[in-house]
Amino acid sequence: MKKLISFLFLYAFIISFGQVYQPIDTADYAQRKDFLKIFSVNAENLIKKSKTDYSGKKGNELSKYYKEFEKDFEGKVKEKDFVFNSVFDSKVKSLIERLKKNNPQIPQNLKILVAKDNTPNAYCFADGTFVINMGLFNWLNNDDQLAAVISHELGHKISEHTLKTLLSIIDQDQMDRTVVQSIKSTKENRNQRAFDVLKSRIYRKGAENRRQEMQADSLGYVVFKNSDFKKTEFINTLKRLEDFDTISPRTLKVETYKKYFNLPQQAFKDKWLKKEDFSLYNYNHFKEKLDKDSLKSHPEIVLRINNLKKIFPELKTDVADEKPSDSYKTLEKIARMETLPNFYHSEDYGVGIYASLQFLQDEEEEKYYKNWLGKCFAKIYEARKNYNLNRYLDRVDPKNQSESYQQFLNFMWNLSLDEIKNIADYYRTEKS
Ligand SMILES: [Zn+2]
Repeated sequence: MKKLISFLFLYAFIISFGQVYQPIDTADYAQRKDFLKIFSVNAENLIKKSKTDYSGKKGNELSKYYKEFEKDFEGKVKEKDFVFNSVFDSKVKSLIERLKKNNPQIPQNLKILVAKDNTPNAYCFADGTFVINMGLFNWLNNDDQLAAVISHELGHKISEHTLKTLLSIIDQDQMDRTVVQSIKSTKENRNQRAFDVLKSRIYRKGAENRRQEMQADSLGYVVFKNSDFKKTEFINTLKRLEDFDTISPRTLKVETYKKYFNLPQQAFKDKWLKKEDFSLYNYNHFKEKLDKDSLKSHPEIVLRINNLKKIFPELKTDVADEKPSDSYKTLEKIARMETLPNFYHSEDYGVGIYASLQFLQDEEEEKYYKNWLGKCFAKIYEARKNYNLNRYLDRVDPKNQSESYQQFLNFMWNLSLDEIKNIADYYRTEKS
């Protein structure tokens, strides 16, 4: 019977896709209100507890951090950064139930929130609030991989990493204050010494992060392997996450620009694709100094994979990804369709246009993405008119962007105000 129902659901879903997809409704006022009520009670308890667990200054500082966090997070909930009771929730809940079966160490009081965020990420707060980004459903390949990410986060939660990080920040602040005092009292090499303090702080944090990540991996993997998921998917998950880039690397072809911007009332102009000359551009000295020592996180994942393979011999041999279940495929498709609503929600209009063009180039849901193209262009037009386009559209940065994305940014910055308006109007009213 259950199978029949899920089949019917899938069928209804496919049929509804025949029409243009309707993004998830975020006008869930009552649910948001309920969540905030519980959240603030839990946060207050946490603040009280930190004051009794840690006396004096430490307890005060700790509760200050929690209070700040509570305010910040409440703001995000009010801004509708999360969706409530969506199709994603029941999947996450069912995976957590599967994990709980042989793992009594998993906390009972977890509260799941799904974030309107395209980056494949999750986090778990000290109070048991567990945030899962929608991007995970789009980027990961199956239930097992999603369960692997959840297990990793539970690893952080079980070892209380948030609390430990906060406590070390409090200690570090104290130490830095002493060092800054001594810098102020000397005249020699002040800048260099100030920079060294900053740098050592960043790297110490980096090393600490790495240690915590590896601990969460191995604890998370133990949780994962105690349940009935396919063990090797834990490694596949890390590999998959390593490949992620905020801006999809799919190259946008010149023909695509010509196809979508050669309009009846406004012919395509080749000069729109002209690139700025950056050969004389002087790079930020400070930034380069930091880059040399590399703050990049990608090599970290390779270290994490090797660490797991060393501790758990059953992970040594690489195995291909499992095929997704039908229910996972459905969620994957919804998350993919939510990519543009999410970019629009976070006001990433430039990236939104770029992503729409990539989808259109791949001939996906043409009507839907043309509509988003129009919506994002309308916002870009407003911004350009108000002289704050910088807020919504990246500047060209040859060192950190792909050729294709640089070409796109050049195109966007080359358009005149009127030209932007014409594009926006055309795609906002287009009915085909
Ligand atoms: Zn982590």
